[in-house]
Amino acid sequence: MNDFVIVGGGIVGLTTAWELIGRFPAARIVVLEKEPQVAHHQTGHNSGVLHSGIYYRPGSLKARLCREGKARMEAFCAEHSVPFERCGKVIVAVDESELGRLDNILERGQANGVDCERIGRERLSELEPHCAGIAAIHVPEAGIVSYRAVAQKLAQLLPTRGEARVVTSARVTGFRSDGSATVVASTQGEFEARQVINCGGLQTDRVSRLGGVDPGARIVPFRGEYYELVSEQRHLCRNLIYPVPDPAFPFLGVHFTRMIDGSVECGPNAVLAFSREGYRMGSIRLRDLWESITYSGFLRLASRHWRMGMGELWRSFSKAAFVRALRRLMPSLEASYLRPAAAGVRAQAVEPDGRMVDDFLFRDRAGFLSVVNAPSPAATASLAIAREICDRLP
Ligand SMILES: Cc1cc2nc3c(=O)[nH]c(=O)nc-3n(C[C@H](O)[C@H](O)[C@H](O)COP(=O)(O)OP(=O)(O)OC[C@H]3O[C@@H](n4cnc5c(N)ncnc54)[C@H](O)[C@@H]3O)c2cc1C
Repeated sequence: MNDFVIVGGGIVGLTTAWELIGRFPAARIVVLEKEPQVAHHQTGHNSGVLHSGIYYRPGSLKARLCREGKARMEAFCAEHSVPFERCGKVIVAVDESELGRLDNILERGQANGVDCERIGRERLSELEPHCAGIAAIHVPEAGIVSYRAVAQKLAQLLPTRGEARVVTSARVTGFRSDGSATVVASTQGEFEARQVINCGGLQTDRVSRLGGVDPGARIVPFRGEYYELVSEQRHLCRNLIYPVPDPAFPFLGVHFTRMIDGSVECGPNAVLAFSREGYRMGSIRLRDLWESITYSGFLRLASRHWRMGMGELWRSFSKAAFVRALRRLMPSLEASYLRPAAAGVRAQAVEPDGRMVDDFLFRDRAGFLSVVNAPSPAATASLAIAREICDRLP
């Protein structure tokens, strides 16, 4: 009998296994991942930013776990030789109308204990010579890392720390109760568990329902598309350049991100994905599409934000529109400097009344805990989310 079976070999599932083996060195732990390798979905398709925690409502789980998780992630990377860098970032106001929102972010950052300061045009051009703005916030402690590399390192280390293993190509298909245990059925056979932890990312609501836990929300997938700067133009962005986000949305607006491998990604936008795990514009999975467009929560969300949604969709079809959004931050940018890069799909939980769940969210019943909402900055926060999950276990 296993003590813990974790569904999902993304960064949340793997850090949870890591935390568990640290707390209970004699425990038997199995991570079941349906793909042939770990980090196949969100964890392997993101911006790779170690977020500072500046944006999140003080007192929220996102604010607290992002701060704690970032410190733990940096320590983990330092200890296990996973490359990361504290390169710093700027959040840039390009006109007067954005100054109020910029100051609100600064206040939040200070309340959350983030090392950040308001800077003027001159300092901005020292930090990012090709960026235009009338004011900015400089966050020296923001950083970059490859979360795929972190996940691979965790999967490699876990079996060396005790009775923990990752089984790939193991899609969980159902659960049944057997006395005090839960039997987890998968495409690699059955696994008995005292406690199941669902970290299923884009599928988490479905896995929850399979396990008899009502997630209370449905995952609506939002594709984030990127371009990347051609190598001769990478010098245009030294580190991380972000716009002032629209507070009505959980997404940060298209930005420039230097990746740990030296490339510079531009994006992501946020368009409704017609397939939860579809990375191309034309990817359609009828079940996913049907579940989104017939869900009251999605319909309410869409009717409230259709204008924003259409803008994002247009940017998805039109490179010129995408470039226009980026040029607000970098006027010298030309369309020819950009080539398409791989996209990602975000799992965003939406409540039946159309509200996007803003904070991290967990649901449980005896023997089964579900991570219902773990969008950005969950990769940064993952080691702290793992601690939070373990604290909630009986
Ligand atoms: C475009 C984009 C940019 C982002 N940028 C950042 C960033 O810069 N910084 C940051 O901190 N966060 C960022 N995020 C968010 C971050 O990537 C996610 O919050 C994080 O990766 C969530 O991890 P996870 O383990 O919950 O999900 P995932 O990585 O999606 O892992 C879930 C796993 O569960 C598996 N699974 C699902 N169903 C089953 C089943 N039935 N059986 C077995 N396995 C199953 C899946 O195959 C998958 O591997 C970004 C996300 C996206 C999409």
